[in-house]
This record gives sequence, C-alpha cells and structure tokens, in this order.
Amino acid sequence: MSEDSKTKQLKEKLFTAAKRGIVTASADEIAKADEFCEGYKSFLDNSPVEREAVSYSLELAKANGFVEFEQDKKYSAGDKVYYVNRGKAIALAVIGKNGTKNGVRFAIAHIDSPRVDLKPNPLYEDNSLAYFKTHYYGGIKKYQWTVMPLALHGTVVKLDGTKVDIKVGVSEDDPCFCITDLLPHLAREQAAKTLGKAIEGEDLNVLIGSRPYVTEDEESELVKLNVMNILNERYGITENDFLSAELCLVPAQKARDVGFDRGLIGAYGHDDKVCAYPALMAALDCGVPECTCITYLTDKEETGSDGNTGMQSDFLRYFVYDLAKADGEEGYRVLSKSKCLSADVNAAFDPIYAAAYEARNSSFINLGVIISKYTGHGGKYDTSDASAEYMGEIRSMLEKNGVMWQVGELGKVDIGGGGTIAKYVANMNVDVVDLGVPVLSMHAPFELVSKLDVYEAYRAFSAFYNNL
Ligand code: MN
Ligand code: MN
Repeated sequence: MSEDSKTKQLKEKLFTAAKRGIVTASADEIAKADEFCEGYKSFLDNSPVEREAVSYSLELAKANGFVEFEQDKKYSAGDKVYYVNRGKAIALAVIGKNGTKNGVRFAIAHIDSPRVDLKPNPLYEDNSLAYFKTHYYGGIKKYQWTVMPLALHGTVVKLDGTKVDIKVGVSEDDPCFCITDLLPHLAREQAAKTLGKAIEGEDLNVLIGSRPYVTEDEESELVKLNVMNILNERYGITENDFLSAELCLVPAQKARDVGFDRGLIGAYGHDDKVCAYPALMAALDCGVPECTCITYLTDKEETGSDGNTGMQSDFLRYFVYDLAKADGEEGYRVLSKSKCLSADVNAAFDPIYAAAYEARNSSFINLGVIISKYTGHGGKYDTSDASAEYMGEIRSMLEKNGVMWQVGELGKVDIGGGGTIAKYVANMNVDVVDLGVPVLSMHAPFELVSKLDVYEAYRAFSAFYNNL
C-alpha cells in the first residue's frame, strides 16, 4: 500500500465527508419525493393564509381519523386528536404507548407567511381609481410585491357577529388585484434610491376598481361606491366592517414545477408550509409511537410569534398540561422531558449572491434537510443554541434512518440574521433544534425549494416521531 493511499485513508477516516445528497438517491426515492410533492402543491394552493392552512390540515386530519380533543378525557395509545387555536393554529396529537410519561415529541412549523394585509380603514378613491391601503406583514422586499397579480383572502366579522370568508383571485376566471409601479421612463429619481426606499410601505396601495357606480346624481367617490356596492351585494358588508376583518393580499399564482427537470417547486409561502406539510403528514402517518407526538402548526412567526395564536402564547403549554393531567402526570415535568424539532426553513446557498453566504456553513438545494443549531444574528443574539447532546441525538437519529441532512447557518456572521420559534420552545425547558428545508428567494412572492428536500423533511419528522 502506498503512502498516498494511507493518507487518503486517514483523511477518509478523520475528515467530514462532503455531502452528496441527490446523487445518492435511488430512482425510487426520487419518484416518492415527486409523488409526495403533488400533495404538497395542493396544500400550498389551498393554504396561502393561516386560517385556510388550518381548515385544509383539519380536513386531512379528519380523513385520517383525528377527532376533536376533549379536556379531561382519558386517551389511550394510538388515539389521534386535534385542537384548533382560534382558527389560526392547530395541534395534532397522536397518543403514544407511554403517553406523556417520558415527555412528548413536538414538530412545530408555522403557517403564516409574509404578505400584505389591509389596514382597518382600507378603502379610498383617488383620481377615479379605487384602492385599499395596506400594512405589510412580516419581512418583505416591498418592490417585489408590485406589478404582479394578487389575490384577496380573509375573514370579515359583521356587527351582528356573523362571519364571512372572502377569497377572490384564486380561480382563473376570478379578477385579481395589483400594486402599480412607476414606468422606467419616469423612474430616474426612483432608480437612484436604495432598494429599501424605492417602494415605501405607504406606496403599497392596491388597485381594486376603476368603474364608477352608474347614476344620474352628481356625487363624488363613485368608483369607491361601486366597489363597496359589489362587496355589499356579494358579502353583505359595509365599509365599517373592515374594522373587524383580517384580509390579506397574497400572490395569485399557484405552485408550479420549476426547471426542465421539474426538480424544484416555485410557490408563495414555502416558508413555512414546506415544513408544515411534512410535519402534518408525519403526524398522519406515524402509527402508534412510543411517546405522544404533537405536530403544532402555529401562526404569527413572521411577526415575532406574539399574540395568542403565536408561539409565545400558552396555548400549546396548556394543551400539554391537559394531556399530562389525563395521564396523571405533572405538566411541567412532561415539558421538561420533551423534545422538539422546530420545523423551519433556512436560506439555501444562492450562487448568484454567493457573497452573502459562508459556503462552508450554508445549506444547499438537494442535500436534504438543514439543521440550524442556532439562528439569531451577529454574536448569537435572540436564539436558542441547541446543546451538543441534543445535536448528537438528532444527528444519530437521522443517520440511523438514512435521512439526507446537512447543517448550516443563515448567511455570513455579520450580514443580517433571523429567528425561529425554537427559542420560545426552549423557554418551556424543552430540548429543541431547528430542522427544515433550504429555500431559495426566501420571503419573495415566489420562493423555490427542492422536491427531494421536502420529502427528506417528511422522512426526518417521521423518524423523529418513531425513534426518539
Ligand atoms: Mn419561517
Ligand atoms: Mn420567514
């Protein structure tokens, strides 16, 4: 044996092997991923906003034998229950053989995505055009939301308490809405501004009508009147009802395959439906696990997890306390023994913007799920940093189950940053680490993910539920 090959052997023994990802996947695995992603694309098309994501998840859960959770009921192994939080978040639990005695296993993803919300007083007319005033939701690059077809989704509660769901711009023959932008010919001043200032928040006004209400009367605001009249005929609402509404503008286009080889999915809202769907399917398919498994699809992550449907709310904690009580266990002890995968995306390395990433610690498309030991920003602020012990457990679980995985940070150290719900889970004294799918163009109206990575996320959550 030559010296060279000895050195090579030593390197193979001691160095971290480069991840090979999709090139090691069998044709069968690729086919399974493609099939899984057809379900995912339907989920995306039916779930642009959190309320719809909850309804669609609930439909799938009920079809798979989940029933509504009842407090103080004694559950047994294999029972499947759901618990909806105000229509905007949903917990799905599969009762394990040991119940809550050894803690529970959480996979928690969020079903809200960056978008453009209507203000409480949205409707106005300007130069015979009708508009909605908006306030964007979450971290967006505002210029990306202009000159594209937008759909309106949401719920209005009328003065008498009745609720109306609104969904316009989804089917092909629906109208859609649009935020205009300045033509390049007149944009010399705009083009000299920084990207963040070129389109400002107060410029994100959505064009919603252009024809006046037909009348002989000499009245003003006839275009606005015409729009309000259409809304009143269709939904029975008046302008006042916008005060008690949650209406959102989201991209109108459906999920599509991207690339000649169809290896990617382009869609609005991958962050974080791309983890929500695999976590949901893992709950639906998990059989009878050892520990009770809880998939929680939460709201408000994109705005800091505040509010009673966000991860900082006690909703999930109380749910665990209820399950613990039914088992004769103390809720806080159950939490202290629990483990969690915070199922959220990370930024996939983008060769066009390579300078923003540190390639040795980035995630890549088609290398499987990305584990983020910590998120936060420069100096590891605002994050949970998973322990070496827990990283070890997760790593070994993924290896044992042949799941494709990689580790990475969110970009270069001092270039920016971001967070997930992991730190709020950690605050409950639960072991937690982020695990999710790498995304290109994250937070854009059209984000990209790899089909294989989506499927590996499903395999990772399934392995977690059945092996830890
Ligand atoms: Mn996210
Ligand atoms: Mn996000």
